[in-house]
Amino acid sequence: MKQISPAMVPALLAWYHEVARVLPWRSEPTPYRVWVSEIMLQQTRVETVIPYFERFMEAMPSLEALANASEEQLHKLWEGLGYYSRVRNMATCAKQCMEIHNGALPSKYEELLKLKGIGPYTAGAIASIAFNQPIAAIDGNVLRVFSRLGASEANIALPSTSKQFKTIIEPLIPKDNASAFNQALMELGATICIPNGAPRCNICPLQPYCNGEHAGIAGFLPVKTKAKPRKIEARTILVLTHDHHVFLQKRKASGLLAGLYEFVNLEGTLHNQELEQWLNAHGVHVRNIDVLPPAKHIFSHVEWHMMGYQITLVEKPTLIGVWADKKALASTYSIPTAFSAYRTLLEETL
Ligand code: SF4
Repeated sequence: MKQISPAMVPALLAWYHEVARVLPWRSEPTPYRVWVSEIMLQQTRVETVIPYFERFMEAMPSLEALANASEEQLHKLWEGLGYYSRVRNMATCAKQCMEIHNGALPSKYEELLKLKGIGPYTAGAIASIAFNQPIAAIDGNVLRVFSRLGASEANIALPSTSKQFKTIIEPLIPKDNASAFNQALMELGATICIPNGAPRCNICPLQPYCNGEHAGIAGFLPVKTKAKPRKIEARTILVLTHDHHVFLQKRKASGLLAGLYEFVNLEGTLHNQELEQWLNAHGVHVRNIDVLPPAKHIFSHVEWHMMGYQITLVEKPTLIGVWADKKALASTYSIPTAFSAYRTLLEETL
């Protein structure tokens, strides 16, 4: 990494002061609001997060409310955001704060790191944005910006690179303005020094200090090893309906989409004969079967390639799960986005 001039700091702050987007968590950066926003923003775009954040704050205005919420309530508030373990970890973290930190998030980075679901990035973001401490909050945006600023060819997929960048970034953070500094870096990474395309160096406030741009290599940075290809899994989805109700089963308490509700979801692609065998084995008496269009859902490491059947039943079979009508589907049961193609089709007929 080439040396980065401290003169980049005032340039960055002046730019941020001019262009900072008005966001609900920025107008009132309490530790609780900063924490919730940072967890929601992981893997999710700002525009998507805003309505979720506002709804969440209304339903769970404090750590105490969150610590006392039921898993079902939290899943419903999170429905559609994905990576549901985030909200379950938040509930555990809220309970930890109630028990060991007098009902508040601690201000020390090391204490934050001990809490459930809070890693180095989130701890750095809370410590700096809510408590104004000069701690780096290093995410993909910051790694990209500093790789380019320092013309660094270190592999940003390695934890050792984050550690190295932390030692370079923290001395640059102004003691009295850590909050604005970290948010400015995030904003620059999101809007100017962007991923998946050429950085917008011609309008970048850091252009005079950018080693990568001066060397003509900014567009090739950062260096990141390619992720392993995703595993493809074939699934067959059975949407069982009876008298304006649909059958839902609860997923296991751990693993992918843990604790959420789903339609019957079977491994592999079931054609006529296998489907008939499954229906017979489960005592399902069929009135009508419609073949549904195929659908695909991409998780971080797995891709589901689904086919589906909507099956209208003569009577309710004895299956372990719940029967939900349209109202309960909307208000009570959280169904992951992975099934949204089938849910939309179902809602037209339920
Ligand atoms: Fe990124 Fe270009 Fe700005 Fe350098 S000059 S920080 S590469 S946008």
